[in-house]
Amino acid sequence: MVRPFRPQLVYFEPKALEYPLGAELKEKFEKEDVEIRYTTSHNQVRNLPGENDFQKYRVAKSTLVVGIRKTLKFDTSKPSAEYAIPLATGCMGHCHYCYLQTTMGSKPYIRTYVNVEEILDAATLYMKERAPEETRFEASCTSDVVGVDHLTHSLKRTIEFFGKSELGKLRFVTKFHHVDHLLDAEHNGKTRFRFSINADYVIKYFEPGTSPLAKRIEAAGKVARAGYPLGFIVAPIYLHEGWKEGYYHMFERLDKELPEDAKKNITFEFIQHRFTKPAKRVIQKNYPMTKLELDEGKRRNKWGKYGMVKYIYQKDEEEEIKEHLFDYMKQFFPNAQLEYFT
Ligand code: SF4
Repeated sequence: MVRPFRPQLVYFEPKALEYPLGAELKEKFEKEDVEIRYTTSHNQVRNLPGENDFQKYRVAKSTLVVGIRKTLKFDTSKPSAEYAIPLATGCMGHCHYCYLQTTMGSKPYIRTYVNVEEILDAATLYMKERAPEETRFEASCTSDVVGVDHLTHSLKRTIEFFGKSELGKLRFVTKFHHVDHLLDAEHNGKTRFRFSINADYVIKYFEPGTSPLAKRIEAAGKVARAGYPLGFIVAPIYLHEGWKEGYYHMFERLDKELPEDAKKNITFEFIQHRFTKPAKRVIQKNYPMTKLELDEGKRRNKWGKYGMVKYIYQKDEEEEIKEHLFDYMKQFFPNAQLEYFT
């Protein structure tokens, strides 16, 4: 049982207190006796407690920084959406393979932005630009936003914003089951609520600090009953001893534990495990005892967006993964939609 995230240390940008959400969060953390500090910028939190990088990293993962999102230029977010909508950055989870370890570098603390209305105004401009085409926004490119939303309700506000929009759609993915406050949001079917799931082996060894699979599936049932379109991301698909049985069991369990009415409108996305050389270095520094297999020699090269080589599975392994996972998906969820495999 993973409890909802409660930061041990909170930083505020002084200007964030001029926004209602900033003031509300400060009052809340004061009441709860959480240590509060101030920082001139959410990009420059220095002097986190801890004697070495290992300790500082762990402290950072339980530190919340409340700031203002200044850059309102959204990144693109292929293949699942057109744009990434930045509601939060960073995550309290400790998944060994997490790409945030490299993208966030020396700033692994969790950042939430209080100027939600300005972020939504920027989303409106992006939608106008693409009209009459629809525009999809992904809210989990830089964080697991559900993990922090019980504190901020920024995601809830965003869901309701897209619920009213004509051409906007929202998507996000989570490994947390703290979804109750999102169940009564007026989403109007415009938000696809996805859960990240995996074989037991991967969850057990590589996803500390996230909700157990049973809790994620239970939350998925609640979300589907609240009328949200539901989706699952199987990621990272990771080859390990008994992987075929492991992933079969995952689908079997999903089928058994998910309520029947939740199975009507679901999607699957599949992402095989990959890493880069810088990611390998950071993973081995942050999680020195990890069992994660990071041997470049066993993998195939794929050129990434910024000219960085990613190491993915060999072609024959990739084909085998596809063959089995697609087959399991069709067997248990014949009406589900396969969005992509990458
Ligand atoms: Fe990274 Fe997602 Fe795990 Fe958080 S839950 S550490 S964002 S992989």
